[in-house]
Amino acid sequence: MPELPEVETIRRELEPMLGERTILRAEIGDSRLTRPRAPAKLAEELEGERIAALDRRGKYLLVRFESGKTLVVHLRMTGSLRHRQAGGDLLPYERARLELDDGSELVYRDVRRFGTWCLLDAIELESYLAARVGPEPLAPDFSSELLRGRLAGRRIALKAALLDQRTLAGLGNIYVDEALWAARLHPAATAGSLSRQAIVRLHGAIREVLALGIARQGATLRDYALPDGETGSMQNEFRVYGRENEPCERCSTSISKTRIAGRGTWFCPRCQRR
Ligand SMILES: [Zn+2]
Repeated sequence: MPELPEVETIRRELEPMLGERTILRAEIGDSRLTRPRAPAKLAEELEGERIAALDRRGKYLLVRFESGKTLVVHLRMTGSLRHRQAGGDLLPYERARLELDDGSELVYRDVRRFGTWCLLDAIELESYLAARVGPEPLAPDFSSELLRGRLAGRRIALKAALLDQRTLAGLGNIYVDEALWAARLHPAATAGSLSRQAIVRLHGAIREVLALGIARQGATLRDYALPDGETGSMQNEFRVYGRENEPCERCSTSISKTRIAGRGTWFCPRCQRR
């Protein structure tokens, strides 16, 4: 599933191509994408909208229109966007297509169909996001004190707390495991029990792994690709994720795999003691 660095990479690539473009025609062929709204109704509303900016909040891509409305796109497991010359062939698993006024089109594909498109006005957007996502970990005002407050009193596993998008926006299975290794913290540690020093390390580690992920244009495992068809290379930088039985780069102990919060979890049993 695309996490913050993957969605941010998509945003950065698409922004110069979509900015100030008007949607001439919208086709949405999947009712799961827009439910509870009818796809034809949403498509009709999108036609004529002029794109003002492309933003991101956590794993949500925000297509902001000059009208004040915003198309909120969540790629979930397998959603992807492709930008190309208009009028191309139907792509496998194509769910929607936006034809733009410069002769290009944006095509949305989704194998497993968990992705969502939602068109909201400014007030709806605020409450939609407030209910779903916590602070942005790369925002300048995201401090270790703020992180401390998000974890305080929580009796669940640290990994589960970090996967919860309301704790922090944008982390998923890969970047949580990588951040916990960098901070030398056990994924099953109780979230609310961390020392001040441990939180400072975790805060730095989260920002570091996310920044590295963006610098490498995200991790390409299965379905993730950039809108121009290119792939990211963060998978070459993984220290623990997917590296069961390989030596830890810090201490040479074999990386372990376990299950926490229902997710496959990789960690070094020596550097990340409970
Ligand atoms: Zn180690």
